[in-house]
Amino acid sequence: MRHEWLSIQALAAMPVLLAASGWAQSAHYPMILVPPGKGPYEFAQGYQTPWDKIQILVTEKIAPNLYILHGSAGLDPAHPEGSGGRVAVLFGPDGILLVDTGNRPVAEKTLKAIRSFSNAPIRIVVNSHIHPDHTGGNEFFGKQGALIYAQENLREEMLHPPGRGNGGAAPDPAGVPAVTYRYSTPGASAVTIHMDGETVDLIPMMPSHTAGDTIVRFHNANAIYIEDFYRNFGYPFADQANGGSIKGMLEAIDLIERIAGPDTTLIPGHGTLVKKNDLLGYRAMLVDILAKVQKLREEGKSLADVLSANLTAPYDATTQGDTKQSKDRFITEVYDEVKDFPPVVDGKRQMPRRAAPGR
Ligand SMILES: [Zn+2]
Repeated sequence: MRHEWLSIQALAAMPVLLAASGWAQSAHYPMILVPPGKGPYEFAQGYQTPWDKIQILVTEKIAPNLYILHGSAGLDPAHPEGSGGRVAVLFGPDGILLVDTGNRPVAEKTLKAIRSFSNAPIRIVVNSHIHPDHTGGNEFFGKQGALIYAQENLREEMLHPPGRGNGGAAPDPAGVPAVTYRYSTPGASAVTIHMDGETVDLIPMMPSHTAGDTIVRFHNANAIYIEDFYRNFGYPFADQANGGSIKGMLEAIDLIERIAGPDTTLIPGHGTLVKKNDLLGYRAMLVDILAKVQKLREEGKSLADVLSANLTAPYDATTQGDTKQSKDRFITEVYDEVKDFPPVVDGKRQMPRRAAPGR
């Protein structure tokens, strides 16, 4: 009797052993080669990102011809879980399409990482949004031959940056998007690119993380690059000066719920890869915080009062990278947004106080 019991146990355990083996996993995409770091991370006052130490790695394979590049963890205080924004690389006989170009100081390393698996010409760049960890390598890759696509608003933001004096030099034309389109119907593709056996939709988004966001859908890979309106390292960030809003981020999440399948790989700019069900908890948190901040502001509470109420406390245990700076930025955005929130004009919003730092 005892032997029989043991053999049944052994049989029952077999599928688990197979699924856990490397062989079983390698047959399935996405493959996670280098997971994002988990922190928490501490950086001394005045710490500067050592760009020479940051490596650009192939961190995920979404499909046989669609790889993700990301910087190393633990060095970049803006994104300690993995430096810079993710760069998606579609490659094959028709050439290379990039979603985003990473930070400028590592553009040469980004190209070197691409050359570790493809020698095809660099043909197309799509910018998901304007932040320098996503567009910093534009000029470099433009000079490699890429035609750059983005929302019209992103091009405007790049040519006429809001806030901070506008005193800087004009951007090099090689890095400025040459092909532009506008947001109209939620979820509608503005441009469809047929390349390397893949069908790629560029889908301009409602003002959400910024007013110039684009998500990129890869049909055959069953994947969508969803950029930064969703994040799972640190608290949400809506770049209000560039036209973003927390409420727009809610609309963006609801759009993903509509257009993604249950198994679609969602590729955020930062943090871990997710599926659409993973967005629900994030959505619920946004709704909860919006309601609580609105109530306190209607009761006449100041921003300082609302910050000290520590409304994010229930979420801290499950939020990676939950620094005070990240929380305060989030709550301040919500506080500004629930009352007298200025409209977006030409892709920008003139915030009444505090200029939001772009990142
Ligand atoms: Zn980003």
